[in-house]
Amino acid sequence: MIIILNQDITPYEFDQLADKLQSNRLGFHRSNLGGKQILTIPNAPSGFDIRQLQMLDGVQEAIEINEPYKLASKRWKKEQTAFEVQGVEIGGNAVNIVAGPCAVEDEEQIFAVAECLYKNNIKFIRGGAYKPRTSPYAFQGLKTEGLKLLRNAADAFKLRVVTEVMDLSLLDEVYQYADIIQIGTRNMSNFYFLSELGKIDKPILLKRGMAAKIPEWLMAAEYILSGGNEKVILCERGICTFDDSVRNTLDVAAFPIIKELSHLPVWSDPSHGTGIRNRVAPLALASIAAGADGLILEMHPNPEVALSDGPQSLYPHQLEELVSQLKPIAKVVGRHLDCELIGHLV
Ligand code: PEP
Ligand code: MN
Repeated sequence: MIIILNQDITPYEFDQLADKLQSNRLGFHRSNLGGKQILTIPNAPSGFDIRQLQMLDGVQEAIEINEPYKLASKRWKKEQTAFEVQGVEIGGNAVNIVAGPCAVEDEEQIFAVAECLYKNNIKFIRGGAYKPRTSPYAFQGLKTEGLKLLRNAADAFKLRVVTEVMDLSLLDEVYQYADIIQIGTRNMSNFYFLSELGKIDKPILLKRGMAAKIPEWLMAAEYILSGGNEKVILCERGICTFDDSVRNTLDVAAFPIIKELSHLPVWSDPSHGTGIRNRVAPLALASIAAGADGLILEMHPNPEVALSDGPQSLYPHQLEELVSQLKPIAKVVGRHLDCELIGHLV
């Protein structure tokens, strides 16, 4: 259940409400979201009559939500969440396109990527500076230097930056360079970290845990929302299944399911969702047809020498080809790509 409080609720009215909840053994979490003061309450026992709360002074509205996730639920917010990142709308009618290497490797590489994106009118660049690698001996990213290179390349070509923060201790640093902060699949269940992300004002791209069910993924989003940050973008990046013919199995069914359950925008990462370059375009097209609001794609000027995820990175010409294939698919589902909009500052 969610209770929206009157903006001018008095301390006395609040105490009355808190007493009522406590006498019914109902805990609550008080927060501020989108200018509203709210109490989020875990499910009330069956037979509990919500009207007894609605009648109290200081209560604007009590909304029954049976799912464990409340603020991520469509019952809380019927209209799709949309917001702007440096003049580009996320979650609106346009499908967002983000592209770039798995990792920032050097100046020449990241500037070549940025120039390619600029030529295709793509508005978001991705690239990891801190990389979560399975092996401690593998390339871990350029760290601070990588963040600087990524920001410089983005600024030179008027792009917005999407990059991962791997640990709470790195949040302050990454925050300075990123326009959208990526939370990787391995951190989707790092709940303390997620609640800290609720305290910041930048959008969070929340990847689905590789073994997470959809309600678990929405509960992860709930941690960020309940902390006060409304700007959450979900990202399907493939889950582990029995099938080892792909690196991960991109769950295309997740897109219509998320649309049914939640108001949050949901993007697709067909690069990690397949692990193989030639499978990226078909799954990118399928994702948009199935209702995804955006794509995050790995590309590299020279994937053969990439320091990470080369086999799934598109060649620049493949990215260009994919963008032109995506346009008619977006049109069929009543949308357009954000890179069809003219200019880099729109
Ligand atoms: C990435 O985007 O480079 C990445 C490591 O993603 P994921 O967390 O989905 O594996
Ligand atoms: Mn990668």
